[in-house]
Amino acid sequence: MEFANLSLTEIIELIQNRKVTATELVSYYISRIQKFKAKNAVLEVFDDALLIAKEKDDFAKSNSTLPLLHGIPVLIKDNISYKGHRLTCASKFLENYVAPYNATVIQKLIDAGAIILGRTNMDEFAMGGSTENSAFGVAKNALDDSRVSGGSSGGSACATALGLACFTLGSDTGGSIRQPSSFNGVVGLKPTYGRVSRYGLVAFASSLDQIGPITKTAEDTAIVMNIIAGNDEKDLTSSQINVPDFTHKLGNNISGLVFGIPTEILNLIKKTKYFDKYQKLFNYINSQGGILKEVNIPHYEMSLPVYYVLAPAEAASNLGRFDGIKYTKRDESAYSIDEIYSFSRTKYFGEEVKRRIMLGNFVLSSGYYDAYYMKAKTIKNLLKTEVTKALDECDVILMPTTFGEAFKIGEKSTDPVSMYAEDMFTIFANLTELPSISIPFDKGVSGLPLGLQILGRHFDEETIISVADYFQKNYKEKA
Ligand code: GLN
Repeated sequence: MEFANLSLTEIIELIQNRKVTATELVSYYISRIQKFKAKNAVLEVFDDALLIAKEKDDFAKSNSTLPLLHGIPVLIKDNISYKGHRLTCASKFLENYVAPYNATVIQKLIDAGAIILGRTNMDEFAMGGSTENSAFGVAKNALDDSRVSGGSSGGSACATALGLACFTLGSDTGGSIRQPSSFNGVVGLKPTYGRVSRYGLVAFASSLDQIGPITKTAEDTAIVMNIIAGNDEKDLTSSQINVPDFTHKLGNNISGLVFGIPTEILNLIKKTKYFDKYQKLFNYINSQGGILKEVNIPHYEMSLPVYYVLAPAEAASNLGRFDGIKYTKRDESAYSIDEIYSFSRTKYFGEEVKRRIMLGNFVLSSGYYDAYYMKAKTIKNLLKTEVTKALDECDVILMPTTFGEAFKIGEKSTDPVSMYAEDMFTIFANLTELPSISIPFDKGVSGLPLGLQILGRHFDEETIISVADYFQKNYKEKA
């Protein structure tokens, strides 16, 4: 049987109705990963996956009811801890590191019956937007070998698009779930900050990081969120707020729903070659009884500089723990403790990671702290106030996920600033802590997918998932 084009929902139905076994599923995906090896989306298939599948099948023989994700193979981004398995963050520094415990999301998936199949390629320590910063080679776009799969969860998005697992997990600090999802034509959700536990996720910028699913459909997103969301005493930033059934609003129409379009973003879209595609979408929304409303986020354009001060500052501090002593490789020529730190970090961190650490330490240093770091924090708060006001006037906010289709491998890798500018539409949701989902909604000039972002109020993933589902099922210009 072919599973690559089936949604998670469809595969759950097959396995629950005993039309397929866990062993068949795992074997299928392993051979498919092999077939698409040249894409470099998957760094490792865990060698116990088939054994676990066998245990699942044995369990199914003697139990009439099965947990929801029974036998469902999942690929995880290589920065999420799975006990006893390698985790490298696509860095030479952590090449031999084995996770000593399960991330909460992994534990929840396992408890729901899922099989963790392997780990996916990413930009080193999640810093980047193309997977070109991986120490283990670029992950190619699922639809075009000459293009990037995006980043930093490029391997996960490519794997979901190619059907190398039923779904994948990514992490999103400034767009790393949504941008690669957009580039590969799949659905990616960055949940509200605090909605999903980050316990066991290797920290990049702790005030912005979130784990989220990358799936084929919005309906699948809801199913995964039902498993992974919720408060966790091991993550103090995780919220106590009630977790709804994320499938609850699926099937709702958009009549009467108010769609906010920030004027500042409209002006940016006008500068791209795809303004007509958004106009077409807006007309469709109107025709379905949705209400379009221009809203304002006056300091929107400050998002990019604010992010590129705050994220490196937090990264510089988080990455201090990789010192050649505790978890990582050590440069053997080092003699003194200072040499162990500096030789090991110099040798094993990649260029972009070093750039971020230097940038972060610079903005945190005395004399610059107030001028850069504190100012950025102030504007972050201002953006939050502005968007809260905007969301008083509308139910959801629409914006592009990216300026256009996936770019060519090598096109931006020598120019960090042009790479950073790619994040113009995604970092806003991280800075304001809002949930945001990206879905493919149209195609660009090369016939590759374009992503649309739907942002919602804090902890209102339900609404944005249902709007995403509605567009996916009804909007005909979809990619
Ligand atoms: N592209 C952004 C960066 O390089 C976002 C990365 C992320 O979300 N992990 O920082």
